[in-house]
Amino acid sequence: MLLQVLGTAAGGGLPQWNCACPGCAGARAHPHRRRRHASLAVRVADHRWYVVNAGPDLTDQIEAAPALHPGPGPRETPVAGVVLTDAELDHTLGIVRLREARAGVEVWATPPVRHALLAGQRLGEVIGPYAPLEWGELGREPRLLGDAVEISALSISAKRPRYAVGLPSPTPPEPPGDAWVVALRLHEPATGARAVYAPALAAWPDALGKAVEDADCVLVDGTFWDDDEPVRTGISLRTATAMGHLPIDGPDGTARRLAGVRGRCLYTHLNNTNPLTDPGAAEHVRLAELGIEVAAERMVIEI
Ligand SMILES: [Zn+2]
Repeated sequence: MLLQVLGTAAGGGLPQWNCACPGCAGARAHPHRRRRHASLAVRVADHRWYVVNAGPDLTDQIEAAPALHPGPGPRETPVAGVVLTDAELDHTLGIVRLREARAGVEVWATPPVRHALLAGQRLGEVIGPYAPLEWGELGREPRLLGDAVEISALSISAKRPRYAVGLPSPTPPEPPGDAWVVALRLHEPATGARAVYAPALAAWPDALGKAVEDADCVLVDGTFWDDDEPVRTGISLRTATAMGHLPIDGPDGTARRLAGVRGRCLYTHLNNTNPLTDPGAAEHVRLAELGIEVAAERMVIEI
């Protein structure tokens, strides 16, 4: 299985346009510290990839990844579609940037996420006249993406994006509302390779623990280093957990859970307040001692 990391930052990216925090200032001063919105491309056949989460800088991310460049025909693209882990703006705004697509835009999402995009963002009405949306439904049962990779979704939480909080329910009503945020399981039957991608973890359900144990590669939510970070740095009155992100460090942190895992474990979706945005931070040594990595921009992972 081939995975191409397209971005590794939480909402706003690094640097964030209106932020002068040490992380953002460091990224302005040292361009190699810059990180784009968290996104991952998964190869499902030769010259055929799906993008997991479409951030606002998606087309720049495609340009930075030669495997995703168009050709050989003038409008042939290896980008087959988009898979969504949730309906957050930072993971969905890039869909409109694909409006030049010749044959529509294929989007895989859970029913609540699809509803948020259609009724909250009015995405069907906005992009439909340019490139119609074609929907694939994500759920617990594995579905085939392309020819080579099976994908399934594990429910993580019922946290809706703010724009979808007051949204009227669809008719018929959406299925049980815990599929607003999911972790993705990827499985390539030909090689047996398994991966988990979970950029937003408000909780660690047992099913996720099992999926992580089975995986050869795990890319998970590294938004905040510790639970108090958003409060301490002045960006929020809520803790990391209250914002829908289990911290890396601490008694309920995810590092403790990943430390003994067989597969390769990497953090992604780093917020600009996270000390890991500084390559010289001591926190990198702490993670390395546990055998855990921080995903780098544009890295390729073969499993
Ligand atoms: Zn900042």
